Amino acid sequence: MTEAIPFIDLKAQYKSLEQDIKSRINKVLEHGQYIMGPEVAELEEKLASYVGVKHCIGVSNGTDSLMIAMMALDIGHGDEVITTPFTFISTGEMIALLGAKPVFVDIDPCTYNIDPSKIETAITSRTKAIMPVSLYGQCADFDAINSIAEKHGLPVIEDAAQSFGASYKGRRSCGVSTIGSTSFFPSKPLGAYGDGGALFTNDDTLAKAMREIRVHGQDKRYHHPRIGMNGRLDTIQAAVLLAKLERFDWEVEQRAKIGARYTELIKEQLTKNSQLDIVPPELETYNTSVYAQYTVRVKNREQVQKKLKDAGVPTAVHYPIPLHLQPAFAFAKRAIGAFPIAEAAANEVMSLPIHPDLTNETQDKILDCLISQLELDAS
Ligand SMILES: *Cc1c(COP(=O)(O)O)cnc(C)c1O
Repeated sequence: MTEAIPFIDLKAQYKSLEQDIKSRINKVLEHGQYIMGPEVAELEEKLASYVGVKHCIGVSNGTDSLMIAMMALDIGHGDEVITTPFTFISTGEMIALLGAKPVFVDIDPCTYNIDPSKIETAITSRTKAIMPVSLYGQCADFDAINSIAEKHGLPVIEDAAQSFGASYKGRRSCGVSTIGSTSFFPSKPLGAYGDGGALFTNDDTLAKAMREIRVHGQDKRYHHPRIGMNGRLDTIQAAVLLAKLERFDWEVEQRAKIGARYTELIKEQLTKNSQLDIVPPELETYNTSVYAQYTVRVKNREQVQKKLKDAGVPTAVHYPIPLHLQPAFAFAKRAIGAFPIAEAAANEVMSLPIHPDLTNETQDKILDCLISQLELDAS
């Protein structure tokens, strides 16, 4: 293979939306309301209706959004928040930044999301919230999580940075818990051309609190009933997102189709040769996935990655070290072996290129490379 395959192709998407994106950005440049301009409110309204909740609050990124959600819930020093160790750093990081303690719970080996059956024993009198992550684009099991939360009077924050557009039992991600939090980092399923994020809730009081925290805890000009931060979404990013929304339904469909095709083709290879060292991702029957990542498991990961790289196929690892083994979380005092399912996943997961414009032809090339490498290993 001569031409390198991109891991995520944002150029193809830009080409198809170029005129609309440029004209929307130009409009912002003309009206000049760079901060909290009309595009922010327009986007919030559209996203709230897309998700099917009352309130959407556009924010600076998908990390600040977790922080703002927890601040609105008054989470702080000495509190505990239950979450998964198998996620991007932000999830645990924001809990710790607020002075609270991330209490990790191991994951389900099929979906890589928090295992609801292990949550209840982790609840203490200090627990203030449960924060599941909808990893790789598939929602965690929210009915199970919400019923435990309800029993203990706890709010649930969905870290939906990878799952915007996915659905759980017919409901959209970001609308399945007390607060939904997502990211518009360029490579996420709905990506801006810079940083951005959004918060979702049906709770009027929490929505008001999150709106205030986003602008320095301000309720009216220069009057600050609470501590907040600068957590606003840029008007230009909102304009870009409005353009991208025009194609988003198609993209969500494409992502689901491409992900399903990967799985189907891998399973076909496995029926031919059961010795192949590869496990495709599993999608719960009640979920749809936006495949923010298409992630398989291979035992011989480093070697497979190197061989694919040499053949022009990029791969990535989401994520090589679970949070409880990160030096930054040493204070949470969890040793190797504490969460064996997350640890095993961290050693074996490997993500393949996926984006809405991936053609069958390129996908076939990627799989040919991967399967032929695995066949060599199996023989
Ligand atoms: C990307 C991501 C975030 C952080 O989003 P940013 O917009 O980059 O701050 C948080 N959690 C998860 C699970 C993510 O994948």
